[in-house]
Amino acid sequence: MNQPKTSGKKAFRAAILHLLDDPGYELSPMPAEVEYFEDGILLVEDGYVTACGSASEMLEKLPDDCELQVFPDQLIIPGMIDTHIHYPQTDMIAAYGEQLLQWLEIYTFPTEKQFSDPIHAREVAEAFLDELMRNGTTTACVFGTVHPESVDAFFEAAEARNLRMIAGKVMMDRNCPEYLQDTPETGYQQSKALIEKWHGRGRLSYAVTPRFAPTSSPEQLSKAGQLLEEYPDVYLHTHVAENRDEVAWVRELFPASRSYLDVYHQHGLLKPRSVMAHCIHLDEADKQCMAETGAAASFCPTSNLFIGSGLFDLMDVKAHGVRVGMGTDVGAGSSFSLLQTANEAYKVTQLRGNKLSPFQMLYLATLGGAKSLYLDDRIGNFAPGKEADFVVLNPAATPLLARRIQHCQTIAELLFVLIMLGDDRVVAQTRIMGL
Ligand SMILES: [Zn+2]
Repeated sequence: MNQPKTSGKKAFRAAILHLLDDPGYELSPMPAEVEYFEDGILLVEDGYVTACGSASEMLEKLPDDCELQVFPDQLIIPGMIDTHIHYPQTDMIAAYGEQLLQWLEIYTFPTEKQFSDPIHAREVAEAFLDELMRNGTTTACVFGTVHPESVDAFFEAAEARNLRMIAGKVMMDRNCPEYLQDTPETGYQQSKALIEKWHGRGRLSYAVTPRFAPTSSPEQLSKAGQLLEEYPDVYLHTHVAENRDEVAWVRELFPASRSYLDVYHQHGLLKPRSVMAHCIHLDEADKQCMAETGAAASFCPTSNLFIGSGLFDLMDVKAHGVRVGMGTDVGAGSSFSLLQTANEAYKVTQLRGNKLSPFQMLYLATLGGAKSLYLDDRIGNFAPGKEADFVVLNPAATPLLARRIQHCQTIAELLFVLIMLGDDRVVAQTRIMGL
């Protein structure tokens, strides 16, 4: 295995913006949780942040053997975190005309069939990780396909880039084409072997990944719960309450469960490090259950709008004490960019009559995402000891941005403009553990 090269002391000078905690929704006065240095230095040693502060204070304290890299007129933010995405769906992003259940039948299942071929899987995994990094995403919680080869290919590619990634093999034993089915026993055994091989190796973590309740029998969901008992620190990654037809179908399939979310709860699948994509059609008891169990919601606004699923109630879910991160949900999501995902989140929130502040959007894409994944001791901001994954943004990357930012009076306004008008074009560099 190649040891990643992270050694040495490096200082990065630019404007620097990150969050120390949840900044809430107000912009004025500037929330105390926001730390901004107009001329800042991020100091990194052996891949970890050692200090972050204003250049005037930091320059005189820089170690003699430190390499200084300067990024004039650029903005450094923490690497962004995508809490729900499907790498095998890279090549079917932007598929026309369907809502969830038909979209799965027509587009998704035939695409995922190809991942029994490890060469194909590796090729797509590389293209997917290129795309994540071009968009400034340094950590993601990722679906594979039902094939264990798909997860091997993904983790091999992620390990070679020293990325902090979470992924798992889909478990799916009914209501799908035969060529994508496992069984409760094979799904269990294959997942177990992948956990033993990959979980905790370098920066990689495993997620037990039943696709969603309709495609897993109660026996398979019980087997997923058994894996979580045997390996308490692995993740659980699935979908819940995305689309109304899906919710009605789950009610037919699991008549004994109080709600869709309750299907998972009854099988022991809600706990810290459970990541539940969508969470649109939840009731009061569901939201309390999410908060009490420590499970996290992944808010996927581009996907929710693109396949017509509904409007996630961000403020209400957060007010219940539920951890929330943001996901692109490619290929149902229509962009790999978390800036564009935040843009759509803003609009979803507008339709619910609320204002989503730019700092809250940055929080969801960085530290909030890290908290939802229980990774905030390692990533999400520039506190000392964190892994130094960061993004260098060029706020003048397009002619329109170059004009618009001249009229920005505050960092809040600049950040808002970057989210509304920016995408992969504003990402000048993506750095992994300082490299
Ligand atoms: Zn999804």
